[in-house]
Amino acid sequence: MSLSAKNITKKYGTQKALDSVSFEIKTGEIVGFLGPNGAGKSTMMKIITGYISQNSGDVVVNGINTKDNIKSIKKQIGYLPEHNPLYLDMYVKEYLNFISKTYQIKGNLNKKLDDILNLTGLSIEKHKKIGSLSKGYRQRTGLAAALIHNPEVLILDEPTTGLDPNQIVEIRDLISTIGKEKTVMLSTHIMQEVEAICNRVIIIDKGKIIANNSVSKIQELSLQTKNAVVVEFANNVEVNLLKTITGIENIVEIDKRNFILETSKNDDIRAQIFNFSVKNNLTLLSLYKKEKSMEDVFRELTK
Ligand code: ADP
Ligand code: MG
Repeated sequence: MSLSAKNITKKYGTQKALDSVSFEIKTGEIVGFLGPNGAGKSTMMKIITGYISQNSGDVVVNGINTKDNIKSIKKQIGYLPEHNPLYLDMYVKEYLNFISKTYQIKGNLNKKLDDILNLTGLSIEKHKKIGSLSKGYRQRTGLAAALIHNPEVLILDEPTTGLDPNQIVEIRDLISTIGKEKTVMLSTHIMQEVEAICNRVIIIDKGKIIANNSVSKIQELSLQTKNAVVVEFANNVEVNLLKTITGIENIVEIDKRNFILETSKNDDIRAQIFNFSVKNNLTLLSLYKKEKSMEDVFRELTK
């Protein structure tokens, strides 16, 4: 089940929430839709799922344009909205039963409900009121509701936001499990989330796609950008003296003894720093490469 967006533009008044956004997601991929708050993630997801419409551009799900037949597309998509509207007075299983009635589900419905409850780890909670559940279990209920009609595509809008660390791990595991058989697009503003569960990442900022790559490619990119070496000397060192080290392009002074030395070259400048210290009679206490995190790359890309 493929999903493609072509030149999607969405305006709110004069503001372009989405500015000619294009991407493609292939069957079996788990794609992270990463971007800061206000980037346009939810807007894009609402357009894919047919809850709002774009000003221009096309969304095509498995060969069908959403403009032509959103009803048939909705049957193939499971959507977990950002502010998941659950009926707090309903019991878990009753709610799922209610949701399932909105789809014409064939076969043994009761068995299907039990399967979904099992898959999402809700079996023991099924007779509880949604309002009495923890945030993590409410999110599971939302996921279960998104899965009830066995859709091939899952659109999950910030599925782990507001959960505590244990719940985050549980929901991520659940998404990874479900993702083995489905095409998944999940939005997040957390870099580690993408590293933890996605194979591809589409980065959006201010309504524009700024990167679209495999997660490993982005990690590679993080090594190609500025290299930084963290050094600690036993005594105070003048910045001007450090500037004489060949290859150094930027110096961040943490204090008089601790510095981050940056170079845009790929070479390892640690040897130069070591030789410099020996030559100038400085005692080096530590010297190590500062690896760029995905967060750093993200900050650089969205600058
Ligand atoms: P994200 O989900 O990435 O945080 P959104 O898609 O919710 O971003 O919002 C993108 C931009 O569009 C934001 O600047 C937001 O304020 C604006 N926006 C979203 N929905 C509306 C709306 N209904 N009316 C006006 N502006 C909106
Ligand atoms: Mg959002």
